[in-house]
Amino acid sequence: MPMMTEPATRTPPGQDAVFDRIEQDLAVWRGWLDDWCNRNTGSRHVAGLAAFLPLLESAFAVLPGTMRRLQLEPETVISAEGVAITLPVVEALHVQVRPDARIQIAMTGHYDTVFPQNSTFQTVTSLPPGMVNGPGVADMKGGILVMLEALKAFETHPAASQVGYQILLSPDEEVGSLGSAPILAAIGAQCDLGMTYEPALADGSMAGARKGSGNFSLTIHGLAAHVGRAHGEGRSAIAAAARFVAAIEALNGQREGVTVNTGRIDGGGPNNVVPDLAVVRFNIRAPDEAARNWANEALDAAISRLAGTDGQHHHLHGGWARPPKPRTAGLQRLFDDVAALGATLGLDIRFKDTGGVCEGNNLAASGCPNIDTLGPRGGKIHSSEEFAIMESFPERARLSAAMLVAFATGAIDAKAPRRLNNQDRTPC
Ligand SMILES: [Zn+2]
Repeated sequence: MPMMTEPATRTPPGQDAVFDRIEQDLAVWRGWLDDWCNRNTGSRHVAGLAAFLPLLESAFAVLPGTMRRLQLEPETVISAEGVAITLPVVEALHVQVRPDARIQIAMTGHYDTVFPQNSTFQTVTSLPPGMVNGPGVADMKGGILVMLEALKAFETHPAASQVGYQILLSPDEEVGSLGSAPILAAIGAQCDLGMTYEPALADGSMAGARKGSGNFSLTIHGLAAHVGRAHGEGRSAIAAAARFVAAIEALNGQREGVTVNTGRIDGGGPNNVVPDLAVVRFNIRAPDEAARNWANEALDAAISRLAGTDGQHHHLHGGWARPPKPRTAGLQRLFDDVAALGATLGLDIRFKDTGGVCEGNNLAASGCPNIDTLGPRGGKIHSSEEFAIMESFPERARLSAAMLVAFATGAIDAKAPRRLNNQDRTPC
């Protein structure tokens, strides 16, 4: 439970009236959650995602502004046979409100979940006391509900005209946002601040700095040969893959915060054939730009050591879909302002750095300081024990609405974080 802190000394004008518009009845929130989370929207379940989009459209139609679907960049993956395959894509939903307002906020969320169409985890159930269990209740259909409810309430504030926003609801966050990345980059470049609705931790704390994350596939082609008749004419792709994996795994512990994890190796065949194919799939994380450059150079070196064997060649696929989100001066300013605001609402908000990644990384890479865990309090996400705490839905909607009111009334200078980052470009 969040600890109570000192009560508000001064409530911004109109904030109480905005709060009155936020749904307080937890049974109503629960109805919305059941309706959304009982529908499967696994990231690769194209039909499920497409069927969900109209629900979002009708829910967000209550906001002013314009709404449109956006086509995503097609995503390619490398198959176990080393072939590039283009995956079908689903559209994202984009809502734009008051593009000419002085202050512009990027609001992002994702409607995909990690639970595939054939998952055994498909429905919402109650967990005592006051908790709910279900796919996406926290990550992040619950978060999208919090965003929507906060915006509906904020729109009733007399100063709402001071703040414009762009909402992006994407179908591919849980698989790295590769298709949404160009849109996130554009929105991040256009906005003063970002608000993203990943769940807060159960105790109310939120994500601070985030590492960057890159996903890669290295396809190694060797030369096949019969082991008994012509072993010397073969070039083993598996042996090369093994040397490569040993080299990149040895990077762990060499630089603060950098991790390398080999997730999977595909390739090879019968024992009597020198294997001509291997696909090595790996992830690299780095806390800041300098560390990312170091990791890139080390990766290049490991790959270049593979070259020079005749008959062998390789291709690197993938990249840093989520750049690092370090605690810049501007981001720290935003954290401090929101923690102070939270205190006026009786919330003790702390920001903890994490190695996990989300759309907040993408916004930050476009220079858009953002808070990315504005969703309900919850936990055990990406498992069938995913839960959300019901009372945190109105609580977190109030926090978001209060942030928007503070930006609109000038109680928080929404331009300050980005200005600070521009002044001080050294951290990244
Ligand atoms: Zn999420």
